[in-house]
Amino acid sequence: MPGETTFSEFIIGEQRRSPHATGGFTALVSDIRLACKRIAYLVGKGALAHAPQSEEGGANRVGEDGAGAGRKRLHVQANEIFLAINERGGHVAGMVSEELELPYRVEAPHQRGPYLLLFDPLDGSTNIDVNVSVGSIFSVLRCPRGVENPAERDFLQPGGEQVCAGYAIYGPTTMLVLTLGRGVHGFTLDREIGEFILTHPDMRVPEEASEFAINTSNERFWEPPVKRYISECLAGRNGPRGKDFNMRWVASLVAEVHRILVRGGLFMVPHDTRDPAKPGRLRLLYEANPVAMLIEQAGGAASTGQGPVLEVRAGSVHQRVPVILGSRAEVERIEQYHREHDQGLDQPYTSPLFNTRSLFSRG
Ligand code: MN
Ligand code: MN
Repeated sequence: MPGETTFSEFIIGEQRRSPHATGGFTALVSDIRLACKRIAYLVGKGALAHAPQSEEGGANRVGEDGAGAGRKRLHVQANEIFLAINERGGHVAGMVSEELELPYRVEAPHQRGPYLLLFDPLDGSTNIDVNVSVGSIFSVLRCPRGVENPAERDFLQPGGEQVCAGYAIYGPTTMLVLTLGRGVHGFTLDREIGEFILTHPDMRVPEEASEFAINTSNERFWEPPVKRYISECLAGRNGPRGKDFNMRWVASLVAEVHRILVRGGLFMVPHDTRDPAKPGRLRLLYEANPVAMLIEQAGGAASTGQGPVLEVRAGSVHQRVPVILGSRAEVERIEQYHREHDQGLDQPYTSPLFNTRSLFSRG
């Protein structure tokens, strides 16, 4: 249609505007788009992809059971799609995937390029069997100068170093949401022509927030600042916030972040007291960092509770981190509650009485 901007036109336009953008970078982003399109196709087939009469359905299923087998294979397939397309593309020096313990090495005859690609090929995969949105998340870093064959330490860059980040969401429509460091732009897959079309230019996180998303089944493990924040939301119009809040929980990072970009609010997978070895649940390099860059580029904020996600130094490629993201004022409020707690200024919320009563049964 006249006046429509395709994904290709958009990234070529960005390349012209950016003095250090290269054709190689544009081609890498195109490869990522192709991987997401292939995964969208597979996800869209659902149970048909592993029906008994399907040619792909045979040998792989041995030893696996029922619906869970389909989910597992989809995860593996999505990973292989990302790896194969980007290895052939020749623009990355190495890759890190949620599905691989160690960084993936690009070996001859494939060419190595100047970028590092980090990704979660299928995010929210427990939602597959129940037909709820899932996604893919990706982050692009520069390979350090002089490094031919990147090792784990070369991937351990703070999120502020990302040159590109984004996700694909496979929902009622498939969308690709992307930042190259100049705003956040959303593209919708037009299945009839097989192209992503710019439908959501310059996405901004709304400043006014009245929705929060947190897994309340973990309430007993939350730290006092998080308990305080949620209890104030639940108190509604008559509480300290003076207004009513709604709660959302999709259990799929991509779907949560997409909602925040469109409608604002707050999403949290906070630090909790369950396992001291796991300071958070989300992975820093290929979950928290890319979504933090998107949210910040859209005018929101992403914090660990103690400071910006994008400043965290990774110690390993699969490191976990607490994540609190969304409308800036709400994120800053929780950071403030953490500071007040550290200074002992939040007594009412740390009393034993509070801890023994559920948020949901407070009269
Ligand atoms: Mn994930
Ligand atoms: Mn995953």
